[in-house]
Amino acid sequence: MKNYTANVGGALVLFSSLWGASAFAQNTVDAIDAHLVAARNAAGFDFTGTLARLCVAPAAVPKTLRDVAPGPAPARDTWFIEPAKVFDNLYFVGSKIHSSWALTSSEGIILIDTLWTYNSEEEIVGGLKKLGFDPAKVKYVIISHAHPDHVGGAKLMQDRFGSRIVMGGPDWDSIEKSVNGYPAGKPKRDIVADDGQKITLGDTAVTLIATPGHTPGTLSMIFTVKDNGKPLTVAYSGGTAFNFPSTTANFDTYIKSQNKMAAAAANATVLMSNHSEFDSATTKIRMLASRKPGEPHPFEIGKDAVARYFTVTGECAQAARLKLTQQPQR
Ligand SMILES: [Zn+2]
Repeated sequence: MKNYTANVGGALVLFSSLWGASAFAQNTVDAIDAHLVAARNAAGFDFTGTLARLCVAPAAVPKTLRDVAPGPAPARDTWFIEPAKVFDNLYFVGSKIHSSWALTSSEGIILIDTLWTYNSEEEIVGGLKKLGFDPAKVKYVIISHAHPDHVGGAKLMQDRFGSRIVMGGPDWDSIEKSVNGYPAGKPKRDIVADDGQKITLGDTAVTLIATPGHTPGTLSMIFTVKDNGKPLTVAYSGGTAFNFPSTTANFDTYIKSQNKMAAAAANATVLMSNHSEFDSATTKIRMLASRKPGEPHPFEIGKDAVARYFTVTGECAQAARLKLTQQPQR
């Protein structure tokens, strides 16, 4: 009886190991599909840009990122857009594609993200002036992450206006290590952000949330804006696309950060980002221009929608992570 059981057991083990490989593959495909469906349901009509970028065939990225110089400046009409007032105390000084935000306070301005080197002068410095602000009033510049489409104007703000530059430690490191990435010069290491740190200026504060993933030092933020006097909490997502080396460990880090940000954003009713692709900033700013009294603010999407944003990013990352297990690691 003992032998019989052992033999049957052995046969089962053999059978299940042959059958197991394809069952595992099928289970993985089903699991990927489940994450994609969850992301699509969470996106609804609110986050189609984020869904398209993250869930629809995100590119695999090699293990070592290339340290390359930024390309030549594209034609002005591909990026130029006028600045705009968005809330009582928040102004858009970004481009058609990338966002830069000026948060005003009783003691000056906190600038969030700084576009490319080629357009930060006109959009940020020029935009602030057009809006009636003195760019020298920018006391802090918070950089969500050290990619050239967000850190491009940091050196300008530091050199010309003495603005203090705030960035995650690993992203300061990457700037210092880069050989080719900063042909026009690098911002000098200044404030190294701590997780949970508050950048306070007069009556305003921005809480920094370390959300590594998109880059190792990515910062997301929580702050308050006012819409005709009504305070609203903003969740600012600091890094979105999967253009980090495609490893399961990196996806785990990214996913953990989405969950962390979802928790930190529990009271937020506004979701903002540094690319219009993800938060539809330029479209919403156009809508704002024709907003009538009593109509909702296009950026005020509610707690449920803010939570769904981080479900989209997290679920797309889960799907991309599982896809890695289906192919040989590079
Ligand atoms: Zn980036």
